[in-house]
Amino acid sequence: MDNDVCHEPQFRTVIEPFRIHSVEPLRMTTAAQRRTKAAEAHYNLFQLHAEDVLIDLLTDSGTGAMSRDQWAAIQHGDESYAGSPSYYLFRDAVRHLFPYEHVIPTHQGRAAEKIFFGVLGGPGKVVPSNTHFDTTRANIEFTGAEAVDLVIPEGHDPSLVHPFKGNLDVDRLEALLTERGDDVPVVMLTVTNNSGGGQPVSLDNIRAVCEIAHRHGKPLFLDACRFAENAWFIKEREPGQADRDVVSIIQDMAACADGMTMSAKKDPMGNIGGWLALQDDELAAACRNLLILTEGFPTYGGLAGRDLEALAQGLKETVSHDYLRYRIRSTAYLADALEHAGIPCIKPAGGHAVYIDAKAMLPHIDPLHFPGQALSVALYETGGVRACEIGSVMFARQPDGSEKPAAMELVRLAIPRRTYTQSHIDYVIEVCEQVKARAGDLRGYRIVEEPPALRHFTARFAPMT
Ligand SMILES: *Cc1c(COP(=O)(O)O)cnc(C)c1O
Repeated sequence: MDNDVCHEPQFRTVIEPFRIHSVEPLRMTTAAQRRTKAAEAHYNLFQLHAEDVLIDLLTDSGTGAMSRDQWAAIQHGDESYAGSPSYYLFRDAVRHLFPYEHVIPTHQGRAAEKIFFGVLGGPGKVVPSNTHFDTTRANIEFTGAEAVDLVIPEGHDPSLVHPFKGNLDVDRLEALLTERGDDVPVVMLTVTNNSGGGQPVSLDNIRAVCEIAHRHGKPLFLDACRFAENAWFIKEREPGQADRDVVSIIQDMAACADGMTMSAKKDPMGNIGGWLALQDDELAAACRNLLILTEGFPTYGGLAGRDLEALAQGLKETVSHDYLRYRIRSTAYLADALEHAGIPCIKPAGGHAVYIDAKAMLPHIDPLHFPGQALSVALYETGGVRACEIGSVMFARQPDGSEKPAAMELVRLAIPRRTYTQSHIDYVIEVCEQVKARAGDLRGYRIVEEPPALRHFTARFAPMT
């Protein structure tokens, strides 16, 4: 046996563990055409037609490629209104990893959040997490409750290397529960920590958070969108975990929590979907009552039977070691190449995305002239690559209408699952290098028109002269 291991040849290249079965054409455009399209979109990349984008790294949400077996599962979908066999298949696939009593499908993650916090939220309540994702925060705040982020201090430093930058600061959680315990209906933990750069949470930290929450009589819920990527990081980085199967690591993560909210557009490999799963009967009954108002009957929850089948199959595929090794390595490949080219990124690379530090790359652009926006537009005009600004466009506007620069000016390159090949990514790297070579010439932007909230989706920009 040992001999076999010795003779197993090792290769530098981690290849895509799939070959292509059905192709989708990309539309080539010229730089002149892209400059026109960018101007027509008022320099807001959300306003582009996706056809005019060559490599779309706007998000990894719902943009992944389904497998042959998922498309086959779609054909197997049963569209019965109540009690569809597709639901039971889906429920059992969820329970294999997250053995909670109640599994409630929803059309997206935010629908699960809306229902969950509709039951548990309300004025005066406070909900801690490592970092709440924007929709989670918005759904908590919509009920009048407060959303508090308690990520460890290392999680705020882009250039600091730490294996689990998504960990929750247990001392601050303990203090919050001691001071305001009566106001806390639930403790949340986002795995991986999306808004904190796709950084993982260690099993040790999940266990510690669980112990504190339970000692104070509070349930722990996972916002588990990238549970498989998180488990792979645990396997690679946490002492004593290297030889384990990711399924058993995921089951350990699940055992610490009392339930989960979920977007199936992330690790479950779906183009649409989500769910809420939990142990408590009474809470589940209250959630189902709200579900029926907004999503549908509890065995389909806003999804078609065929969607549930595709997700059940996706859940099997996402825990494959070959897939996860490739997934995490291919994201790091992009980050390593950018770093090598002198383009500063959040370190270490996240699971689903690489975040360029636009403030460090474009120090001559004032944060309130949006260096992240300038970089994103330049990446599009130069090479047709669409990225997402996560900086002052998204966060600077204050409730009183004033502007306060965001903590970081980031540009996120999110990697859709199983969609682009290494040569696509090599092209993205070259585009970034060309933009960097003329970084000093890039100008900032000003906003000429904006809505009262969530302005990044629809604001109109003009280049600074
Ligand atoms: C995407 C996401 C959500 C929301 O899910 P949707 O399916 O987009 O509604 C919630 N939390 C995290 C961490 C996410 O990444």
